[in-house]
Amino acid sequence: MESFWSDLGDKMKGAYEDAEKRSKKDLHMLSNIPSILSFLKDMNQEDLLLLLDQARKIKKRKNPKKPPINGDFYNMRDKLEPEDRVKIDEVRAFMLKEVEPIANDYWMRGEFPMHIIPKMRDLNIIGLTYEKKYGGQERSNLLEGMIGEEIARVDTSTCTFFGVHSGLALNSIYICGSEEQRMEFIPPMIRMEKIGAFALTEPDVGSAASMGLKTTCRREGDRWIISGEKKWIGNATFADYIIVWAKDEEDSQVKGFIVDRETPGLTTEKIEDKMSLRIVQNALIHMVDVEVPESRRLQNANSFKDTAKVLKMTRAGVAWQAVGCARGAYEHTLGYTMDRMQFGRPIASFQITQDMLAQMLSQLTAMQCLVGRLSELLDQGVMNDEQASIAKVFATVGCRAITSMSRELMGGNGILISNKVARFLGDAEALYSYEGTKQINSLVVGRAITGISAFV
Ligand SMILES: Cc1cc2nc3c(=O)[nH]c(=O)nc-3n(C[C@H](O)[C@H](O)[C@H](O)COP(=O)(O)OP(=O)(O)OC[C@H]3O[C@@H](n4cnc5c(N)ncnc54)[C@H](O)[C@@H]3O)c2cc1C
Repeated sequence: MESFWSDLGDKMKGAYEDAEKRSKKDLHMLSNIPSILSFLKDMNQEDLLLLLDQARKIKKRKNPKKPPINGDFYNMRDKLEPEDRVKIDEVRAFMLKEVEPIANDYWMRGEFPMHIIPKMRDLNIIGLTYEKKYGGQERSNLLEGMIGEEIARVDTSTCTFFGVHSGLALNSIYICGSEEQRMEFIPPMIRMEKIGAFALTEPDVGSAASMGLKTTCRREGDRWIISGEKKWIGNATFADYIIVWAKDEEDSQVKGFIVDRETPGLTTEKIEDKMSLRIVQNALIHMVDVEVPESRRLQNANSFKDTAKVLKMTRAGVAWQAVGCARGAYEHTLGYTMDRMQFGRPIASFQITQDMLAQMLSQLTAMQCLVGRLSELLDQGVMNDEQASIAKVFATVGCRAITSMSRELMGGNGILISNKVARFLGDAEALYSYEGTKQINSLVVGRAITGISAFV
């Protein structure tokens, strides 16, 4: 043992001389070593072994092998065909390259990055499930849903833009339009040469849209006159076509119209003070005697029941958005907890942190499985209203919980937009309320399972 310490002393002396020649920093690092060694020299063998055990553990903790970060815990991706997985990879690459670097900045400014529209067009992801005669690709709803997840995983506002155009507006024409209308309007919208918006909600009529809109339409010969106000209408400040829903003065039924945004009498006013989805351009729409030809009336929209057919489809899309928003928050937070050091250890090493991460992942996985199954039902043509509603509720409630836990795990940094999770947290709020609030969708489910309508 004596010779060990004297050999070590000689080596230290040599190292000192070398460090002196190299840099002050090296010299400083070596200067603590003699006192550490003299402390070790005085320890008994038992204590030395204990210390060795601890040192091994610390070494292990300091260099843990970081597993890859992946919020798809049950491999939902494997449900897709190989060519569909390629599409998902393309969407991911697009979002990481084009949207991720600018999302926080545009969110803070409340502006929409118009320059991404032509780039998004090249992805060919609009109207994916439609027949080829309309420019569609006859691909699955599962793929479309997972594309939504992939977009929202990076930015939920971009996904809302996609959902309003490709879901609400396009589906209104697909579900409620005549064959001529489908052939005229769907192909340019699929190519994103024309962008759509969907105007149902009004300043005084939100959840109760089925009970009576205040916006009216009146037929005069081969044209319709529309007057009223709409609120919250996404994409409305720049869309080419706005699908306007109005109550017919004659039969009191809801009818739908494809209205050019630049039609005289129609003006839009951007809603500025949002704390959620700030990139989405939501607007108030004022309409005073807006003239629309009969050829622009959706020929198969004869009552609110037809509007509800569109909402059923898009609720599935919102459920996927919630999955994506929650996944983005979870994945970002997991990475953060592995890098953030407190008490000399990554915060991911604390038991409470791991418990929260596991809770987040289990909730996220349950959401993915439920919404994935919903898309399969949609692909089989058997999805009903209550199935869409329960998925929308479950996914948006889960999204709110996950983004909230994400923020908590990031401490103070969690409220900074630059740390991303605050954006997801804010965006989760709009998902929770639009396309039917949690309560309204729960009432759809309640009515189906009890046979009793509790709406009013
Ligand atoms: C960011 C954003 C984007 C949107 N985009 C669009 C769009 O593009 N196009 C469009 O048409 N609309 C859009 N909307 C509107 C959205 O669909 C409505 O906000 C939603 O339907 C709720 O209506 P409301 O906000 O008027 O709330 P209200 O209907 O006033 O509801 C307020 C509260 O009362 C509860 N409530 C209401 N009725 C009942 C009941 N019978 N039982 C129990 N509770 C009830 C609700 O659940 C909610 O908690 C958007 C909204 C937001 C926030």
